[in-house]
Amino acid sequence: MNPAYPFVSERAEHRCEYCHAPELVFNFPFEVEHIVPLRQGGATTEANLALACRSCNLRKGVQTTGVDPSSGAEVRLFDPRQDRWPDHFYADLDTGELIGLTTIGRATLAALRMNGEPQRAARRLWLRLGLFP
Ligand SMILES: [Zn+2]
Repeated sequence: MNPAYPFVSERAEHRCEYCHAPELVFNFPFEVEHIVPLRQGGATTEANLALACRSCNLRKGVQTTGVDPSSGAEVRLFDPRQDRWPDHFYADLDTGELIGLTTIGRATLAALRMNGEPQRAARRLWLRLGLFP
């Protein structure tokens, strides 16, 4: 296990810092990811680490920017260390869809493909269990 996991997961309150998936309902610990990848000069420091579910981490990969589908603008992705989640995202409690409130939010939703049917179905279930948002 990543040695930073205990601190990073506690700081994140055991939620994916991108899609807010609750770690509690998964059968494997979430991943410690580098917000700025090592190969792009990112450091293994608390300020550059985030807790991410497998889906978000896999899709984020080494991306640090994405395209806002509304404007076509390429912008940086959501940064859990410098951005506040509710400033950029809103959860539709009926559909389980995450809505991007900003260019950064919309670009991050698109880049990490956070609104597929499996994710929306899981969020509806987590809502019924009181684990989301
Ligand atoms: Zn996630």
